[in-house]
Amino acid sequence: MDCLFCKIIKGDVPSKKVYENEYVYAFHDISPMAPVHVLIVPKTHVESAAKLSGDNLIIMQHLTEAAIEIAKQLGIYESGFRTVLNSGKDAGQTVFHLHMHLLGGAALSDFGV
Ligand code: AMP
Ligand code: ZN
Repeated sequence: MDCLFCKIIKGDVPSKKVYENEYVYAFHDISPMAPVHVLIVPKTHVESAAKLSGDNLIIMQHLTEAAIEIAKQLGIYESGFRTVLNSGKDAGQTVFHLHMHLLGGAALSDFGV
C-alpha cells in the first residue's frame, strides 16, 4: 500500500522520532504549526478516526496515552497542549493514515491554530 505514514513507521521514509511503543510511532511534523508539533500514528493502518469502530477503537486509547506521555517528555504537560484529529476533506486531512496532532509550547492563539 502506498501510504506515507506506513513508510515512516517502517523507516523507509526518514522522520524525526519522538516516541515509540508497541502500538504507536510519533515524530515531529515536517511543517510545524507551533513550537511543539508532533504527529502520533498508530502502527495499524486506519484511514481516519471516522473509520474506527468496534475493536479498533482501542487505538484512541493508545493515541491518548502516547500524547500524555510525549507532552510530559517534551515539557508541555503543565503548560498545556492541544490534540487534533482531522477526518476527511473539510477538516483538511491530507495524509489518509490516522494521526493525532499534538500541539503546544506557546499560546496556540499566537499561531492561528
Ligand atoms: P493532516 O492535514 O491532518 O492530514 O496532517 C498531515 C500532516 O503531516 C501535516 O501537518 C504535514 O505537515 C505532515 N507531514 C506530511 N509529510 C510529512 C513527513 N514526511 N514528515 C513529517 N510530517 C509530514
Ligand atoms: Zn498507512
